[in-house]
Amino acid sequence: MRIGLEIHVQLPTRSKMFCSCPAAGSDGPNGHICPGCMGMPGTRPSLNRAAVEIGVKLAKLLNCTIPDVAWFSRKVYFYPDICRHFQVTQYETPIGSGGVYHLGKKPIRITRAHLEEDPGSIKKSGDTALIDYNRSGIPLVEIVTEPDISSPSEAREFLTALLRDIRHVVDIPDDGERSIRVDCNISMAGSERCEVKNVTGLKNVERALTYEAVRQTKVIKSGGKIVRETRHYDEERKVTTGARKKEFESDYAYIGEPDLGVINVRSIADSIVTKESPLDVTKRLQKEYGLDERMAKQIVNTSMLLADLFEHIAKRIGAQSALTWVTGPISSNWKALEKDAGGKRDDIVDITVMHKEGRINDIECSMRLKALITGEDLGGIESRGGDLDALIRKAISENPSVIDDHRKSEKAANRIIGAVMKASGGTYSSSDIVEATKRILNEMTG
Ligand SMILES: [Zn+2]
Repeated sequence: MRIGLEIHVQLPTRSKMFCSCPAAGSDGPNGHICPGCMGMPGTRPSLNRAAVEIGVKLAKLLNCTIPDVAWFSRKVYFYPDICRHFQVTQYETPIGSGGVYHLGKKPIRITRAHLEEDPGSIKKSGDTALIDYNRSGIPLVEIVTEPDISSPSEAREFLTALLRDIRHVVDIPDDGERSIRVDCNISMAGSERCEVKNVTGLKNVERALTYEAVRQTKVIKSGGKIVRETRHYDEERKVTTGARKKEFESDYAYIGEPDLGVINVRSIADSIVTKESPLDVTKRLQKEYGLDERMAKQIVNTSMLLADLFEHIAKRIGAQSALTWVTGPISSNWKALEKDAGGKRDDIVDITVMHKEGRINDIECSMRLKALITGEDLGGIESRGGDLDALIRKAISENPSVIDDHRKSEKAANRIIGAVMKASGGTYSSSDIVEATKRILNEMTG
């Protein structure tokens, strides 16, 4: 099975790509339009430099080759979602080409990434189609992969990781209209490929591809042939349906866009400082702090903010001690902290430094971190968390068989350790729980 994706990412610019209409929000249908984005005769586009800058950042993220100069083309087609009947896009000179994205150890080759404007949206209502041009002219980057993805679940995994990295580099909001749309190309061994157009949402991408894989396999098994075609994904019925025979690039007429001229991409690329990608940070955590790959990934995948916090703590108290607090009480209360991780960072570092200097013990440090992160009252946490010994004894009384099991194997203690960790919600460090549980079980089985 070979899967290739074309991912359309709306870019978070304030205005549209070629006019000054707002790119976000709406004042109802066709509230954000002007003669420019409506392609009225006599109007001329002017390029939004911010869109090019973001395009370059994404091309860098995807390890693409960035051209020295680029220009736009008019992709001529007749469909009411673009009322001037051509879409301004990049054809010969994409903003990036020949890149690669590493999904874990697997390289997914990136054919190209190009800038283009979004067309308007069409809503069908009975026999009538309503067109809203608010979306028309919003900048997009279209990322095209080689067919290197080998399963629907891998496609979802790839998109999840890619989106996380894109969000880190260009601050794309998590939801709203600026979501991504994906065209999914899939072929079974030796067969023609089909393209499922305009799938939104990562779950739907996986579902649409799974449906196609099953459908195509059935057709081939029953002696049929897959015809190259474009299909639609019906989110309600969770099926794909044939739309039209696949058009080829040569079916479109591309002509150079004369009004925008040549863009000096090199000078824009040289002037941009890009943030470190999550992959780079994962590598750096291993190299600079001696973390193993799994741990570095776990921290970065939770959040780049957690990685940042880890570094700040590690610089003061060393990587190993920092890891104890970051993977313990900080990770277990991450949901509460995430929104204000920056604001609480210095206080968190201070608490761990107090522990390092011996001014507070393990339990106090855990409780103070939890109180700071959750905003709960310290006294409340102490009384609820209670005495660690009491919590362990309670867990043992709820699992009395563990005492006999422990006589046979020390591993039985893990059941109690797991239960206590869950019950105490990160109040105690895991090493404290392990130590105390073993001590109490040894006393009981003595
Ligand atoms: Zn406009």
